[in-house]
Amino acid sequence: MKRVTIALAGNPNSGKTSIFNELTGATQYVGNWPGVTVEKKEGALKKNKGVTIQDLPGIYSLSPYSPEEVVARNYLIQEKPDAILNVVDATNIERNLYLTTQLVDIGVPVVVALNMMDLMKKEGQQLNLEKLSYGLGVPVVGTSALKGKGIQEAAHEAISEAGREHEFHGLTYDKRLEAALSQIGEIIATKTEAKQLRWYSIKLFERDEKIQAEFLVTEEEQNAIEEIIFITEKIFGDDSESIIVNERYNFITQLIKLARIDTEVPRNKRSDWIDKVVTNRWLALPIFAFVMWLVYYVSIQTIGTMGTDWMNDVFFGEFVPQHISTLLVDLQVANWLQSLILDGIIAGVGAVMGFLPQLVVLFLCLAFLEDCGYMSRIAFVMDRLFRKFGLSGKSFIPMLVATGCGVPGIMASRTIENEKDRRMTVMVTTFMPCSAKLPIIALIAGAFFPKSSWVAPSAYFVGITAIILSGILLKKTKLFAGDPAPFIMELPTYHWPKIKGMLIQTWDRSKAFVKKAGTIIFVSSILIWFTSNFNFQLASVSEDKSMLAAFGNLFAFIFRPLGWGNWRATVGTITGLVAKENVVNTFGILYGGMSEVSENGKEVWPMLRSSFTPIAGYSFLLFNLLCAPCFAAIGAMHRELLTWKWTAIAVGYQCSLAYVVSFVVFQLGDWLVEKSPFGFGQALACAVILAIVIALVKKPKREKTERFAYLEAE
Ligand code: GDP
Repeated sequence: MKRVTIALAGNPNSGKTSIFNELTGATQYVGNWPGVTVEKKEGALKKNKGVTIQDLPGIYSLSPYSPEEVVARNYLIQEKPDAILNVVDATNIERNLYLTTQLVDIGVPVVVALNMMDLMKKEGQQLNLEKLSYGLGVPVVGTSALKGKGIQEAAHEAISEAGREHEFHGLTYDKRLEAALSQIGEIIATKTEAKQLRWYSIKLFERDEKIQAEFLVTEEEQNAIEEIIFITEKIFGDDSESIIVNERYNFITQLIKLARIDTEVPRNKRSDWIDKVVTNRWLALPIFAFVMWLVYYVSIQTIGTMGTDWMNDVFFGEFVPQHISTLLVDLQVANWLQSLILDGIIAGVGAVMGFLPQLVVLFLCLAFLEDCGYMSRIAFVMDRLFRKFGLSGKSFIPMLVATGCGVPGIMASRTIENEKDRRMTVMVTTFMPCSAKLPIIALIAGAFFPKSSWVAPSAYFVGITAIILSGILLKKTKLFAGDPAPFIMELPTYHWPKIKGMLIQTWDRSKAFVKKAGTIIFVSSILIWFTSNFNFQLASVSEDKSMLAAFGNLFAFIFRPLGWGNWRATVGTITGLVAKENVVNTFGILYGGMSEVSENGKEVWPMLRSSFTPIAGYSFLLFNLLCAPCFAAIGAMHRELLTWKWTAIAVGYQCSLAYVVSFVVFQLGDWLVEKSPFGFGQALACAVILAIVIALVKKPKREKTERFAYLEAE
């Protein structure tokens, strides 16, 4: 039997994921669409493995302005699925049908799954589905993904449509527009299949540049088309793109008038009431702070930590090393290989995997907040604040997650639709101190500032400040210039989440984390183990005579202006790239010859104190907080940024910022606190501060982006 592919299309928050999960169960394949950082999910239909369900990104229209829209429309036009199952949120039907009016132009059979029927009923509204179906010219099936109703029927309908020869050619608009479209259709009739003619005529009418380029219209044809457009624009007194947008909305208004069964419409009172409280001007932030504190408390402080402690101390601390070591001895494995496996791989991978329990709990909490509808409100509330420094409200979640671990923090940036916002978030998220950086903070605080309690909070303060300043500064560079994408998001009605969806999401995210830690950390652990155990003659030596020490010596001069330019601190910074908690261990080895140190490195405090001034110690801390994160996080950055060029820009920016901050703090601190004379370094530090202040207050050049102009038009 021929395989059937059904594409699942719909607005964000229409219930696509819920329906996809219901249809495919656990047989999901998650990847990326080629060339963009948009997640691609597909799976086989649970009840019929010959049917593939292809989930498309959530989109509001098929215009070519966001990567999501481009991905979806390329797929629909080029791959031509056998049918489209269009998920429509019945409680937001006007906006959702806008996409439907475009999908029916494409020439692929469409079935509408009118979702959230339960909510619509609760709100006291009714729609006549037959009339809706008649008006749209496609089957309409009422569904409720939350209650699991109607979904199989919708899939079934799509499968039976898939076999049918498609005769429907889109909706009919104003006669004058239709005349123009059919004239354009005549010009290009020989260049495309009859069923795609409607779509291409409309796109050429809209002067869609991507389609113009793809279509290779001759100059003569282009002139003829332009004349048709010009005349139509004159008749309507509007530009061609707006004419189409208006016609689509007019059609929808008429259709809803026809299909709506008039009842008194009581709004969903409970949801409105909750919103009045949680998005209230004064209460929103305190409530939000409390919710986030609760999430943090549960995942990082209590339940998650119990699991993480167990993973670190018992599982990777005793159980795995003991058993593997016995096994290796039994197998008479060479000493070097034993050391590689135990000290290199298990220690390295174990250090990162230890976070898994905390993360699983964190992911569960976030899935709960997302599913019940609160997350959209957080993004909405934070947006007001975050826009001020060039980030989106949705950037908050990645940053919050990053205080646990940068890897899932970076992965969480995927929910940000706008590419610039997402890139910026990926670049700045790891400025937040993750839990692996806490031992470094404890080490420096204990060694140099034993009686002060400001060191740890200052780390968070520095992280947040770095994010805000970066946001303001980067927005003024060419890379991020342009108006922010306006915030469009429907606020879904509150409801109790579905356990199954939460579990699937938690599983997906945890799996991605384990994969990352399992590959990148594995390779880099081997590399660091090798360079720290061997010299250039490949003889096994102690760490201070190793290749790594030689590298440390070579590069130490770079850090001299920061106050800690000796080889040991340099090596510590390098090993920190594998996992940040390595910094403390490396200091244990290099300063004390100890193979094991306590978490805050107490044993090496006296030695550190005699090597550095407190201000140099603090500068070391700042550098390690802000510079490139560990390899696993860099790997995650690459996955989200997609190209090595962007990854290099991000890492370069982070390291440069770290360098500048540490330099300024050390030079000025050395002068003010340690009473060193004011010299060249101090003058340079003052100049740097001045330059930053000027850059901060300078007015950026404004460029109007295409996308913004389009949305205004809409
Ligand atoms: P997506 O963004 O289109 O993938 O939408 P999701 O599947 O994530 O759903 C968005 C929100 O709507 C989630 O909180 C779902 O639990 C909820 N939801 C989805 N379908 C229904 C439904 O039929 N009824 C109700 N009441 N809620 C639903």
